[in-house]
Amino acid sequence: MSQLAFSNTQLKTELVSNLDTLGYKEMTAIQAQSLPAILQGKDVIAQGKTGSGKTAAFGLGLLNKLDVKRFRIQTLILCPTRELADQVAVEIRKLARAIHNIKVLTLTGGMPFAKQQDSLYHGAHIIVGTPGRIDDHLNRGTLNLNDVDTLVLDEADRMLEMGFQDTLTAIVERTPIDRQTLLFSATYPDAIKTIANNMMRDAVMVQVEDTH
Ligand code: ADP
Ligand code: MG
Repeated sequence: MSQLAFSNTQLKTELVSNLDTLGYKEMTAIQAQSLPAILQGKDVIAQGKTGSGKTAAFGLGLLNKLDVKRFRIQTLILCPTRELADQVAVEIRKLARAIHNIKVLTLTGGMPFAKQQDSLYHGAHIIVGTPGRIDDHLNRGTLNLNDVDTLVLDEADRMLEMGFQDTLTAIVERTPIDRQTLLFSATYPDAIKTIANNMMRDAVMVQVEDTH
């Protein structure tokens, strides 16, 4: 069996067999290098270019840990834009097909606030959102992140370029200190090092130059 087989990891068998159904035959380079550490519960900073498979790297990690019977927000994924948040939600739902009754909710700007508030009232396991709208919900008291045990910053370089640094800090402060934090980025500028130092503990650093 290939070194890169998903079955060589600690992933639950139902997740592995769903990957087979999806046609994901092997881990991409960034998945092979980051998934074992993610599955061990470590904080991970992973840098790899667009298309390298970063969503599944963090998505499989958080799904492996998620307890679907606990109907609480266990994961928060932050993305720079509504389009990227929607794409991540689509990929997470695909990866989660083997997990029944899992609820993934997107909270992004440009969508009616009242409808999101109603969805939050009905509950979710995973939130995928943009920093501005997540911060709005926190300030209005419509979102509580006290049960979050995995926080993902996806496309962190872009979120910083868009000026979200302070908003990210405010959001992170509303999550439990003992959470697992995963940071994904296409580039690794100094600004990323700074937030990583502030938000992460003993982070494992993974850098993949080429895709696959
Ligand atoms: P990134 O976030 O690094 O830009 P994505 O997570 O969007 O990349 O993944 C790019 C594409 O690769 C997606 O269409 C995804 O479904 C696919 N993909 C991810 N991992 C694998 C894999 N192990 N095998 C096959 N396809 C994969
Ligand atoms: Mg991505």
